[in-house]
Amino acid sequence: MKDPYMMQRIKMVEDQIIRRGIKNPLVINAMKKVPRHMFVPENMIHKAYDDSPLPIGHSQTISQPYIVAYMTDALQLTGDEKILEIGTGSGYQAAILAEIAREVYTIERIDALAKQAEKTLNALGYKNIHIHVGDGTLGLEEYAPYDAIIVTAGGPYVPETLIDQLKVGGRLVMPVGEYKYGQDLVRITKGIDNKINKETLTSVIFVPLIGEKGWSN
Ligand code: SAM
Repeated sequence: MKDPYMMQRIKMVEDQIIRRGIKNPLVINAMKKVPRHMFVPENMIHKAYDDSPLPIGHSQTISQPYIVAYMTDALQLTGDEKILEIGTGSGYQAAILAEIAREVYTIERIDALAKQAEKTLNALGYKNIHIHVGDGTLGLEEYAPYDAIIVTAGGPYVPETLIDQLKVGGRLVMPVGEYKYGQDLVRITKGIDNKINKETLTSVIFVPLIGEKGWSN
């Protein structure tokens, strides 16, 4: 089927992603392929390929395309990973991950968003994305350990539960900040002997991570 947004999407990838320094072909190809306009509310479709986050209802957002690409790149994926995402939102980031990795488990705390994301992802035919509703700060023990964990909401600290559910050699990327609106994007790598390496990658602004091991509301 012809996609009327294909040219806009290619331009988005060239202008916003490649021009800003993302080189990983796995990330670039996924961003070229996933139809972002299908993940935004109808009244936002005309802005789907803009260089900004967009509202998706329930006071939540779909992240700016560049940030989605940057965080995906920071996970250092090669293609055979089992990934956990906290904060399904629209399901867009999950789709990008599913284009690259083997399995994607994703948790959303707002039931209505999880249902809408499921509808979109089913319509697009994704079979390797598994959506759960609940408090993602506790992770998803059932399918652990994960090769990579991505948190797409900002918390006050990296929950120990998530580090525990990361494989040796695994990477976790999460916005962390002592204030609710504004964080450092942090990458945790779990080395042998469970040794933790922490890097600060860049500054970001994410909606709050709300849960037992996040903000209280
Ligand atoms: N990844 C999403 C996408 O591609 O559209 C964007 C995520 S949005 C910036 C952050 C999401 O995290 C919101 O949908 C919010 O409801 C969710 N969230 C916040 N705290 C959470 C928690 N403890 N567990 C699961 N989801 C959470």
